[in-house]
Amino acid sequence: MSDKDTYQANPERYNQKMEYNRCGKSGLLLPRLSLGLWHNFGDVDDQKEALNMLKYAFDNGITHFDLANNYGTPFGSAEKNFGKMLRKHFSEYRDEMVISTKAGHLMWPGPYGDGGSRKYLISSLDQSLSRMKLDYVDIFYSHRYDANTPIEETMGALSDMVKQGKALYVGISKYPEDKALEAYKLLKENGTPCLIHQGRYSIFSRDIETDTLPALEENGVGFIGFSPLAQGLLSDKYLNGIPENSRAGQAHGFLKKEQVSDEMINRVRKLNDIAQRRGQSLAQMAVAWCFHKPEVTSVIIGASSTMQLKDNIDALKNTTFTDSELWEIGEV
Ligand code: NDP
Repeated sequence: MSDKDTYQANPERYNQKMEYNRCGKSGLLLPRLSLGLWHNFGDVDDQKEALNMLKYAFDNGITHFDLANNYGTPFGSAEKNFGKMLRKHFSEYRDEMVISTKAGHLMWPGPYGDGGSRKYLISSLDQSLSRMKLDYVDIFYSHRYDANTPIEETMGALSDMVKQGKALYVGISKYPEDKALEAYKLLKENGTPCLIHQGRYSIFSRDIETDTLPALEENGVGFIGFSPLAQGLLSDKYLNGIPENSRAGQAHGFLKKEQVSDEMINRVRKLNDIAQRRGQSLAQMAVAWCFHKPEVTSVIIGASSTMQLKDNIDALKNTTFTDSELWEIGEV
């Protein structure tokens, strides 16, 4: 019997701890936790563990999987590997999944593989669909604002993807406040409202609290935070040095050794003490903390093992913070 026949999703997947939040003013519900495939799903990674994580996530109510054209080492390999796993194990569950991808950062050489042009975005989505062997993605994002392309062109390309049926919804990622407002307006005028804004959000990166969150409700847009653990810094793993198999310890990881500075680890140690007092791991506290802002629809976690994924999902058991805990965390 092939693997295809052996995976049956957990029948209790929707009766457990996962909650689903409405994304902005749309009809779409997103799980509080989404799984990101930036690292750990590329050709350089352990495919067996990657598959285990996908199954574990889905079995525990995670229905949203976040990708981009350039995820994985080499670029594109996360989409290719995810597509393979999807066909082999999850084909009957496609309609229970929200799959997103993006384009905006460097993907291929020459003048058309980077930025926000119509030429780049539309051909990149076609490539993503072909790598994942999908007819459509649920959400397509402009991965970043490109000052060299008129914003009308970038938003026009997003709207056309929806009209062509290649994406069900569109979003923007890491747009500065004024450009985000323009994007919301243009997408609305085009008849394809912006579903969601994706931005970096963690105890160490709080800019979006002042420059992104305030305008969301009025514009009917949801928010999804990425890198809630600051790529792993907000865990106890670097307290005694840099483990070889950690993101900072690996050559292809985006977390650089220099970022694990003594000053950083001192702060992590203080946060670790607060987490222990709450009866949580630091990773759990860091994930849970993101929900102290009600505008946060979902948080995209990354994991390099099923154990980490379990740890992070368990964060949902306690997302309540006292004012003094929030203050103390803010001070650090
Ligand atoms: P996190 O900040 O959650 O970091 C994840 C990493 O932290 C894991 O790969 C693992 O690294 C470590 N980790 C996770 N859980 C634990 C745990 N319980 N204990 C100890 N260590 C742990 O998120 P990412 O930076 O991976 O980003 C998440 C997703 O967000 C991405 O996959 C992507 O989908 C999206 N994203 C979007 C961006 C954008 O520009 N729009 C940019 C960046 C990310 P280790 O290898 O060390 O074990």
